[in-house]
Amino acid sequence: PVKTFVAPFVGSIDQGTTSSRFIIFDKHGQVVALHQIEIQQITPKEGWTEHNPEEIYETTLTSIKGATDKFVALGYKISDIKSVGITNQRETTVVWGKSTGKSLHNAVVWLDTRTKSTVEKLVSKTKSKKTNEFVSIVGLPLSTYFSGVKLNWLLEHVPAVSEAKSNNNLLFGTIDSWLIYKLTGGLNGGKHLTDVTNASRTMLLNLETLQWDKKMLEFFDIPQNCLPEVRSSSEHYGNICEGILKGIPIAGVLGDQQAALVGQRCLKPGQVKNTYGTGCFTLFNTGNKTILSKNGLLTTVAYKLGPNAEPTYALEGSVATAGAGVKWLRDNLNMINDAKQINEFASKVPDTAGCHFVPAFSGLFAPYWKDDAKGCISGLTSFHTKHHICRALLEAICFQSKELVDAMNADAGQPLRSLKVDGGLTNSDLCMQIQADILGITVERPAMRESTALGAALAAGLSTGVWTSLDENVEGGFKLSDGHDYFESQILESDREVKFAAWKKAVEKSFAN
Ligand code: ADP
Repeated sequence: PVKTFVAPFVGSIDQGTTSSRFIIFDKHGQVVALHQIEIQQITPKEGWTEHNPEEIYETTLTSIKGATDKFVALGYKISDIKSVGITNQRETTVVWGKSTGKSLHNAVVWLDTRTKSTVEKLVSKTKSKKTNEFVSIVGLPLSTYFSGVKLNWLLEHVPAVSEAKSNNNLLFGTIDSWLIYKLTGGLNGGKHLTDVTNASRTMLLNLETLQWDKKMLEFFDIPQNCLPEVRSSSEHYGNICEGILKGIPIAGVLGDQQAALVGQRCLKPGQVKNTYGTGCFTLFNTGNKTILSKNGLLTTVAYKLGPNAEPTYALEGSVATAGAGVKWLRDNLNMINDAKQINEFASKVPDTAGCHFVPAFSGLFAPYWKDDAKGCISGLTSFHTKHHICRALLEAICFQSKELVDAMNADAGQPLRSLKVDGGLTNSDLCMQIQADILGITVERPAMRESTALGAALAAGLSTGVWTSLDENVEGGFKLSDGHDYFESQILESDREVKFAAWKKAVEKSFAN
């Protein structure tokens, strides 16, 4: 049946690690039009990953054009698009010149580990000599992952960046800031802003005041005047200055994982989602309180839906390599022709026959936080085929997600009963079945899987009158029209325990480097 869509509409820019996308949603959260363009992964050295900021902007404009062309061709009116939200890969660091509006270096991508020695240097500068020195202020350990650490590296290693700093000509931002700046005019009055969720990934934001923290700026030797102004996640940031959306307000901004939390409407304390993209990210809504983890999780801002709204916080478990492992099998080993072929191969064998694949390509994040762990495939005999290796990678993604869920259960003091999932890899039914088997709880997948883009659209629509609330029981509140699929475990508890114990042993092998 042909779907009918209901005005008003909201656009969502979803600038991810592997692609830039623009999606137009209708009032009920249905996808009316979508356009997506892959972006180039620049890897100048082992462990380094960069994106070209100009390409990020250009592909964003092209995806807006692609999706709006389809939207118009379907007979809908641009004037019915009320606002645009932005969601983005987080922590990825951009620096540009105030006087030129041009980037001073490629963006340093979140999973880039070039800052390993920067982290060592910073840890040795702390009183405790421990990575968790600042956890009570910023919720995060010192790690290669966060943008303040990446900015510190850029200031020390790139002359153009340190010169711009000395000349008071430096602007820093995560991808949200860069896109807002460019879309609202760049050199011609572009706004230099960020939202609380993106800011909470820099290590520079005080989690209580939700402002830049003087002590942290001093520690990282970062001048406040290069930082964007911190705003809530749902308000008017500025109007788009060029192209077919000219004049339409940017009215919602959320980091991609927080956007997925909102898109899955995990809006009550205790609700959890896991997103399977380049990495895996589990967020647990902890309400208006910050909770510090005893099990390797991060404390982060979940959202603040309006300038006067109370902030909501989350505990987060991050896994660096999930879909990135699938991409590696495709691009580096040529083992599969496209991402979905991993499922065809993995389903040819009932198990991995003792083979384990720990894809620690960017070290291991939660709950280990080992920057120097390396990937390994172990337990091989001449019996094994690519089918086993494909299956071992899917299992690895699910084992890593189980470790996040276990950490959350321990911090929360009560076990989860179901897990809401989204992201590119959830297109794999096999992967979701393996996940249910490994977790032993229900895995709940929405039919509309664009939760990240939807979250940003909801934030934008909320501040521009498209919805009065994200609670479907409130008059004028958002109600998603599509349903869910459920996956239940099909293995015994005793088998689950044996499998998990074997995984834990395999992980130790990735430490021995
Ligand atoms: P990101 O937002 O991090 O760019 P996405 O959520 O778009 O990521 O997910 C992309 C990832 O999902 C890719 O790494 C790709 O390998 C993987 N992927 C997409 N579709 C499938 C599929 N059907 N089976 C397995 N993996 C898939």
